[in-house]
Amino acid sequence: MNDLTPTPGGGCRSAPVLKQRGQREVFCGLTGIIWLHRKMQDAFFLVVGSRTCAHLLQSAAGVMIFAEPRFGTAILEEQDLAGMKDAHTELDREVARLLQRRPDIRQLFLVGSCPSEVIKIDLARAAERLSQVHAPHVRVLNYSGSGIETTFTEGEDACLASMVPVLKDTAARELLLVGALPDVVEDQMLSLLGQMGIDNIRLLPARRIDETTAVGANTVFALTQPFLGETHAALMRRGARHIPAPMPFGEEGTTAWLRAVATEFGVDDATFDAVTAAPRARARKAIAQAAEHLNGKSIFFFPDSQLEIPLARFLTRECGMTAVEVGSPYIHDAIHGPDLDLLPAGPQISEGQDVDLQLDRVRAARPDLTVCGLGLANPLEAEGLTTKWAIELVFTPVHFYEQAGDLAGLFSRPIRRKSVLRVEAAE
Ligand code: SF4
Repeated sequence: MNDLTPTPGGGCRSAPVLKQRGQREVFCGLTGIIWLHRKMQDAFFLVVGSRTCAHLLQSAAGVMIFAEPRFGTAILEEQDLAGMKDAHTELDREVARLLQRRPDIRQLFLVGSCPSEVIKIDLARAAERLSQVHAPHVRVLNYSGSGIETTFTEGEDACLASMVPVLKDTAARELLLVGALPDVVEDQMLSLLGQMGIDNIRLLPARRIDETTAVGANTVFALTQPFLGETHAALMRRGARHIPAPMPFGEEGTTAWLRAVATEFGVDDATFDAVTAAPRARARKAIAQAAEHLNGKSIFFFPDSQLEIPLARFLTRECGMTAVEVGSPYIHDAIHGPDLDLLPAGPQISEGQDVDLQLDRVRAARPDLTVCGLGLANPLEAEGLTTKWAIELVFTPVHFYEQAGDLAGLFSRPIRRKSVLRVEAAE
């Protein structure tokens, strides 16, 4: 079994948190549509937004040549309040046209954005009205992916949270696994739990609406992503109970996450060890290869993806790195606490951002690797710092044992690249 006691000096759960509020460098919450539309195969995401939103989606997702797209943008031109009634009528007409043409759509998400004309539209009311019109074949929900108030991973959180109130009630004792994972990773997770005898499992989001996900007072849920604060709160309101656990990143995190679920369902140690021994060994070996380039290196996290705390735990404990600062847009004790317990004391933990002050700190620290958003990466590279785009972490399968080596590799590659460039420059 892993030794999951905090390292000498204690973990970071009770460490002072630096909270600064100022200009933030964040990416738009609409981005979540890119991975959510792949996951939910009968869903359509209709962004109610501007041309900028349409361009963002198109450039982030690329153009789908062989498949019908499952997202689009209803572009709203500038309107005064008197034009709002027309906007609703227009939206109803567009939705009717879309659903008539695409009977494969079973869930439609109206996704709000940040232009002021969109903020004036009551999308909740529109979703309610459209649900009544198109039920029972199509369920219409709404959430905001606005770039003003969200970090980019909050888009997924808002989407899943919007689904919780309409989930069916159940009195069954079931495990609900929450967070959109690539299918291949999800299958690995279900296989590990199935081998332990845990198979009364529901998923949020499910791949299709027909795979009915339900929730009730006997539901216990585990998060597979650390950015699901709103969804966590919505599930608690439905009476479900959270299984706190470190996130399933790396060999240690995956084992701790599985252990927490296994304990909840009374799996004995012998079964747990028999199921996990081989994949754990594979994960350790794969991590060790990448960790050669990470050992002894320092890392600085800007707050961006909300994955920062569990990743810092993984990189410090399993890859030998030293964290200088671990910034997160939000810190939820119930969600991040187990990872903070394991994160060795030392780094500055920060929540929120005043980007100028944080840039001063990274320049002073000159870490070997800086994890940050797209907008900061190029300027920092120009100053000689090596960077990693946080957004890559949500587009790459990184959870559970079989991906642990790839996760470490995402961080070792830029460091290796830099050392190769240095050698070549010296020749
Ligand atoms: S929601 Fe706002 S930040 Fe996002 S693409 Fe649209 S205009 Fe830009």
